Amino acid sequence: MKRILTGDRPTYDSFHLGNYIGSLKNRVKLQDEYETYIFIADLHALTTHFDKTADLKENIKGLMLGYLSVGLDPQKVTFFLQSKVPEITELAYILSVLTSRPLIARQPALKEKLDAGEQDTVGLFYYPILMAADILTPRAHLVPVGKDQKSHVEFARDIAVKFNNLYGNVFPIPEPLIGEVPTLPGTDGQSKMGKSLGNAIFLTDSSEEVEKKVMSMYTDPKRIHPTDPGHVEGNPVFTYLDAFGSEADKLQTTNYKLLYSKGQVGDIEVKKYLVKILNNFLDPIRKRRAEYEKQPGLVERILKEGTEKTRLEAQKTLVEVKKAMKIDYFS
Ligand code: ATP
Ligand code: MG
Repeated sequence: MKRILTGDRPTYDSFHLGNYIGSLKNRVKLQDEYETYIFIADLHALTTHFDKTADLKENIKGLMLGYLSVGLDPQKVTFFLQSKVPEITELAYILSVLTSRPLIARQPALKEKLDAGEQDTVGLFYYPILMAADILTPRAHLVPVGKDQKSHVEFARDIAVKFNNLYGNVFPIPEPLIGEVPTLPGTDGQSKMGKSLGNAIFLTDSSEEVEKKVMSMYTDPKRIHPTDPGHVEGNPVFTYLDAFGSEADKLQTTNYKLLYSKGQVGDIEVKKYLVKILNNFLDPIRKRRAEYEKQPGLVERILKEGTEKTRLEAQKTLVEVKKAMKIDYFS
């Protein structure tokens, strides 16, 4: 069976709509077809949240509940905690000696983070190397991610090819799998909804919170009166309607798009419709989360067992890596 590897940073205690549509949805869909490894990327979280480590524990628990609540099945999926599999950081070091420093320095994701005010640390610089090690440690074939992570998966591909060419075939060449909406915009109209960006609707938001966020959402800045023809393209309200409406909602959404572009419906009416759609989508997720929250120790046990299993796999990979490199001096 081919393998999936993907993960999430515990920078908040819940997932948002972008995480769902960009990655979680594909994971749920593929959990029967692939041996799936999902990890909580606490080491990656440190790159931007090294001063907020007190929140990590709660955030890790929240993300675990999030996985179960969207329908990932712990019988099928192996969940693990990145920092508890030290073979990953060991492999990252090995990969780092094969990595061109100027290539990493040019990566757009790094530039974006620095532009956003993150500190220019060695850890932040090292992010793609650690992510390549995340993917290559369980020898994954497929990596379901949002578009913001695509270049990192491509980097992991390149480094796997380089390793295999130098030392022999140890790693499958991983492929990214981008979600239905490659990058879901934020409620503020910024191009990416993000856990740490203050522009997210979370899967744990109450129906009142969803309503509040949607009603103050960015729409079409050029439209002042409901009778002005509006823009559907690039309007996050319609992006969300398309992404989270059910089959049965499609007709009404199409109708609203037409009326909106002709200036025959106001923002408020369309937003109220979006509130309904989002709450219909979120209700079953909220209910499942509440059920899992009632079971103390459950997510901790799932994470611990999965981490132990992953470590055994990781150790096997490191043995193969060192053998191929002829650095397996003694055992
Ligand atoms: P942070 O702001 O702390 O980096 P995040 O919202 O970007 O948080 P991550 O944990 O970094 O979340 O990413 C988890 C997964 O969700 C990744 O596969 C990422 O590509 C995907 N993802 C994140 N934001 C979006 C988005 N707006 N649209 C689509 N996919 C997304
Ligand atoms: Mg992110």
